[in-house]
Amino acid sequence: MPVTETKKSLHKRHDDLAQANKQLEILSSGIFADGELPTFAEKIKETNQFPLRPKKLEILQINVGYMCNQVCEHCHVDAGPDRKEIMTWETMEQCLEVIKNTGAHTLDLTGGAPEMNPNFRRFVEEASKAGIKDFIVRSNLTIIRANKKYHDLPEFFKKHNVHVVSSMPHWTRGKTDKQRGEGVFDKSIKALQELNAVGYGMPDSDLRLDLVYNPNGAYLPSDQAGMEKDFKKALMEDFGIQFHNLFAITNLPIARFLDYLIASENYEDYMYQLVEAYNPAAVANVMCTNTISISWDGWLYDCDFNQMLDLKVNSKVKHISEYNEDVLNDRNIIISQHCYGCTAGAGSSCQGTVA
Ligand code: SF4
Ligand code: SF4
Repeated sequence: MPVTETKKSLHKRHDDLAQANKQLEILSSGIFADGELPTFAEKIKETNQFPLRPKKLEILQINVGYMCNQVCEHCHVDAGPDRKEIMTWETMEQCLEVIKNTGAHTLDLTGGAPEMNPNFRRFVEEASKAGIKDFIVRSNLTIIRANKKYHDLPEFFKKHNVHVVSSMPHWTRGKTDKQRGEGVFDKSIKALQELNAVGYGMPDSDLRLDLVYNPNGAYLPSDQAGMEKDFKKALMEDFGIQFHNLFAITNLPIARFLDYLIASENYEDYMYQLVEAYNPAAVANVMCTNTISISWDGWLYDCDFNQMLDLKVNSKVKHISEYNEDVLNDRNIIISQHCYGCTAGAGSSCQGTVA
């Protein structure tokens, strides 16, 4: 379904797939229930990696809200302008307490478009004082050009030494706009040039600018290093843009990407691809082994994907108000068939490949 045909989230359309339990039901039935394909649990049992357990916590990922200025076709958050779930300042204060005391070295703010949370800047200002080594904001780029009030974001990011990680599905207008909406490419290019202009992405700059690629359809990303080379060459030649690294991310079969797979009759083929590309070596480093994901309303999850499937952590501690890193670290990670998206080929995480 091209994005131009639907500007609404699954939630707004009251689509069945807006319900996490409906998605989980699909992921557990059909080819997985009748034994045609092994479940993820069965697969990781083959290499004695079940139950999946966390290692040392390295990343706190905070989702400050599902509101977004875009309605991308593949979005696993089902984000959009019609989503009203936004983290309150009260929950942000609870997060700040955790950030001050965490052993994690990376703080990763995501959304929706995190910048649309009315308290985003106040939160960044406070969080940056905690001295976390790597402070990431996931920006969709177009937000910088969406409205005058966001135009100074590159300067704001610079001031707080934020590491900007931005989605950029392709270096061509056609492929980018097909996945993310008309006009997204031109706005993204302009935003990248503005980030470059304040020093982001320059070869010797400490102002980190990384891009995230995810495929346009029902196929897996190709080699990350090769794609990074192609992106760098094309963006430099065509627009004079520079950036540091490219992360290639596999689309996980949840929310709008699951909807796309089903509507295009690609669901089973895609699951076959994921299972066939299963790489046991990737299991040890999947994102949930070093991350805690916090939702806009303060619930704790193994990862952003489990958050969207409403699979809260399997721990006594389930909410930011009762956060305890030692207790949380002693848990089994909740898995289902969507996890195959993290272990296909070289593996996939918010930081790109893992194996
Ligand atoms: S993929 Fe990112 S930019 Fe697109 S709708 Fe989802 S949150 Fe917004
Ligand atoms: S989807 Fe989440 S829980 Fe499953 S393997 Fe990936 S990071 Fe871990």
